[in-house]
Amino acid sequence: MKVKCSKCGNILVISERKLPKNKKKAMVRCTKCKHAIVFAIPNAEELEGEKTEIGTDNNQKIQNAKLVETKTGKEHILKIGKNIIGRKADISIDGDIYISRKHCLIEMKKQTWGLELIISDDGSETGRPSINGTIYNEERISKYDKIILKSDDNIRIGRTNLIVKFY
Ligand SMILES: [Zn+2]
Repeated sequence: MKVKCSKCGNILVISERKLPKNKKKAMVRCTKCKHAIVFAIPNAEELEGEKTEIGTDNNQKIQNAKLVETKTGKEHILKIGKNIIGRKADISIDGDIYISRKHCLIEMKKQTWGLELIISDDGSETGRPSINGTIYNEERISKYDKIILKSDDNIRIGRTNLIVKFY
């Protein structure tokens, strides 16, 4: 069966074998934007029951993520847990004085559907925002924002552009 992502319009093809039995609804993560799509299972016999997460449609879970500097092409592999990004941090970006020593934080978590990356403008982990800000897809995020990143998202810190890549 086919399910359309209500957020980005991506069409997911779901194998009938993966559909939970005795459930009316199931949930699948959009492979493009990671949106949780809840959909009705056709011809479900039982009407009650919780929705069941069945993972991504093709079962190809994303295993790794990295940041790519657009200017230099330099790649920075993200690790599970906290990745502090700055001039002198877990992930160090050289040659940009507009970046704070500890500028922003990307937390990477393993979820059942793959990897989850959450960015916040809090590299110091003291709740202090960076001086020049963290720009996510052309909008400055506050220290209170926790944004879930998708592949090809653009992050700008100082004068450096970073592209998120899952692989
Ligand atoms: Zn989507």
